[in-house]
Parts: sequence; structure tokens; C-alpha cells
Amino acid sequence: MKLHLFWYECKNCKKIFKSPELCGDGYGEFLFFDESGNMTYLNSFTDSAFDEVTAIFRGIITEQERNNTSLYLKLFSPVLIATCDLSPTNQIYQMRKPFCPICKKINIGHFGPTNPPEFVQMEIPNATHHAWDQLSDNEKRSLVEKIIEETRKKTKKTLIGKVKSFIADLDAKKPPKDSFEILLRDQLQNYLVELEKPNNDERVKVVAKSFGSFYRNFYFENKGGLDWSDPLLIRCSEIMSLNLKNGL
Ligand SMILES: [Zn+2]
Repeated sequence: MKLHLFWYECKNCKKIFKSPELCGDGYGEFLFFDESGNMTYLNSFTDSAFDEVTAIFRGIITEQERNNTSLYLKLFSPVLIATCDLSPTNQIYQMRKPFCPICKKINIGHFGPTNPPEFVQMEIPNATHHAWDQLSDNEKRSLVEKIIEETRKKTKKTLIGKVKSFIADLDAKKPPKDSFEILLRDQLQNYLVELEKPNNDERVKVVAKSFGSFYRNFYFENKGGLDWSDPLLIRCSEIMSLNLKNGL
């Protein structure tokens, strides 16, 4: 298989390394990596488990999760990986960008195709699903449900962490806060309270919407528009985009 080398910048150890990627647009094709550098290839058009797991998955997720591409992929990736057998070194494959071969972390900053393009010829084994195939229909469904639930919780935790650290930074700010910062802190606190309540998605959506209009209105009324050089605005919009990724 001909693969295109990409360069990656590791944000953890600051080194640059190269790693192969699929050539072309890679539609319906996946290349998974494990921590030891093993790779496996999955072609959704020929793979034996793909259609089955997709049907189970689509039967469980909400309509909103189905219609939001980035959220859909975020939830589906770990499910697809769970159908694959472990790597030759008994590790779980990862769908995300490759591990840094130097520090073994996945913490990629900038990355891109080598230019002029460098190619490598490699034999990559197809993903296998022996363990998955042994499961009963009920076991398959429970496994998919469990993974979706875990991913939902994890993405929500990231959002809650962002809101908390924003509040903490506003609290730590000296000299005294201006009126926008005081209102912003109140809004964030409100938002956090709703986020931390279980089974509260409908209410969170309302609060998120009002948070979005609050800061946008402020910028339009006081600064003549969204001023993207303002770090507070950048953080507000980061929270809103995480919110969307959570399907909220
Ligand atoms: Zn590294």
C-alpha cells in the first residue's frame, strides 16, 4: 500500500516527526495506530463489521448526534475501534493522530503533508474482528452503548473543565474586573451549574444560547462588533464551539 508521509509537531516534546497517512481523500478508509507504532487498515466498503456496527450505533445515538458530523465522528470512532482486535502487542488502536515516537504521547500541534510529497510503500494488515464476532447481538449492543455513554461523559467533562478554568482566571484577575468581566463571570457560573446537573441537556441548550447572545450583544453594543483580538471573546467562542461538539 502506498502511503503519504505527513509531518507532525509534537506539542509535548516539541519534536517534529513523520508518519504515514492514506493517500487521496481517504473517504471510508481508516488507518489506526497503537502506541508501539503498529498500524491497521480498515476499508469501510469491504470490512466485515462496519455495516453491522454502524447500524447498531445509529440506532442508539440521538437525532442531533446523527446530524452533527463532528459529534457523530467523535462518538463513532471509539465504537469502530472497539470492533477491532487488539494490535500484535495487545494494545488498543487509536483513531486520532499518531503517537509521537519520541515521547509516546498524542498531543499534535501543527501537521501537514510533506511537500514535495514523500511516499512510503508499506504492507498494512487489514483490521480483524475475531473478538467482536464472538459476541452475541445483545453483547454487541451493550458494548456500543457503553462506549457512546463514556464518550459523551468525557466530552462533557472537557467542556466543564474549560468553563471552570475560565471562571478561575476571571476570579484571579487583578486589578478589579470591569463590568463586562463581572457579568461574564455570572453567566459562566450559571452555565456551569446547569452543565453539572445530570440529564439536563435541554436546559443547558437554553443557557448556552443565552450565553452566546450575551457576549455577542456586548461586543456589538460596546465594541462595534466581534473583536477577535480580544482574548475574552476567543475563550467565549471556544466554549460555544465545544458546546456544539457536545451536541448541546
Ligand atoms: Zn513527543
